[in-house]
Amino acid sequence: MGFLEKKASSGVEPTPNAKPTPNGFAANGDSLLLTPGPLKTSASVKNAMLYDYGSRDSAFVEVTQRVRKQVVNVLQGENEDLTAVLLQGSGTYAVEAMLTQFVPAAGKVIIFCNGAYGKRMGQICDANGRHYEMVVSAESEPLDASAVNEVLDAHPDASHVAIIACETTTGVLNPVSEIADAVKIRGKRLLIDAMSSFGIVDLDANMPFDAIAASSNKSLQGSPGLGFVIANKQALTEGADNANSLSLDLYAQWNGFEATGEWRFTPPTHCLLALGQALDEFETEGGTLGRRTRYAANCKTLVDGMRKYGFETVVADESQAPVIVTFRMPNNPKFEFQDFYGRLSLKGYVIYPGKLTTEPSFRVGCVGNVFPTDMQGFIEVVGHTLEEMDISL
Ligand SMILES: *Cc1c(COP(=O)(O)O)cnc(C)c1O
Repeated sequence: MGFLEKKASSGVEPTPNAKPTPNGFAANGDSLLLTPGPLKTSASVKNAMLYDYGSRDSAFVEVTQRVRKQVVNVLQGENEDLTAVLLQGSGTYAVEAMLTQFVPAAGKVIIFCNGAYGKRMGQICDANGRHYEMVVSAESEPLDASAVNEVLDAHPDASHVAIIACETTTGVLNPVSEIADAVKIRGKRLLIDAMSSFGIVDLDANMPFDAIAASSNKSLQGSPGLGFVIANKQALTEGADNANSLSLDLYAQWNGFEATGEWRFTPPTHCLLALGQALDEFETEGGTLGRRTRYAANCKTLVDGMRKYGFETVVADESQAPVIVTFRMPNNPKFEFQDFYGRLSLKGYVIYPGKLTTEPSFRVGCVGNVFPTDMQGFIEVVGHTLEEMDISL
């Protein structure tokens, strides 16, 4: 019996986390990841990886083509001009492929940066000899779409603009569609890193953009190992010769998928099967709206609970995407982050250090196969941990 037949009858019900224990550990010792990637995956997504496929297997080729369609369908609305190019590697590989494929060596990209992932785009341009202008603004605030106009007017030589939809550094949500309109009016091309927002923030398929990069292991809840770029076919064709890397050449990768349905180099077979299952579960949950609704409930449970203990958030509630929440490091000498982190992970909850350059902070994710009851469990464990550390905030 082939994988696809089994899959067709699987009913794609997401399995809840096996976790009736009083702490974050599942009965099998699995921890609850409250991080921005990799994320907690469902047991059914993990189970989808139990099959070995050859890269030329027709069943595997079918999964490749199905996943390519499904990721485009995550966008709101329909646009026949778009195509998805899957790529081996983590999200950064997809961002690097996007920037180097679409920005020609003679071009120039304006990077609007309000966090670490904007900075990373600058590093990518440095490594690949692409001209860029880095426009830095406060990490705790969304990009200001009206300031974007001024910057674009000041740089008439720029060919492209690159932004991060949700800056995972803080979890701040940037005004993507307003910026897209401003970029279009000034005749520039837009490239979007939508890594952590893809599948929870509405992104319109008909918004003017050349490409959107995302990955398997963020809000789509697949396993890590695969990135993808949703590209406007014409822009991709125009940039056919731009790539300065063999393995990150999106145009060549696209041609391979279109010609034979096969990957140019060894595909991440298990990861793709997991993503196929994860996308089915995404659709079963009600797509972007369904997923956002659950993540927002996670985020609210988290923020309300942490505020009761006296923790403060860095980003204002109205600019907070339900992805990851940045908390100020408490001003209490007894609160030593490594100790707090270690005690929580011993109890099965993995959180994340902060990435803010301006002040000490730590982060807790609300994405992945995680539910409000899990967040409630986390809040209780934080309470016990603070008691152990003899801290009242
Ligand atoms: C996670 C993430 C990336 C990619 O990071 P990888 O570690 O390469 O997967 C890029 N941009 C944003 C905004 C992200 O959240």
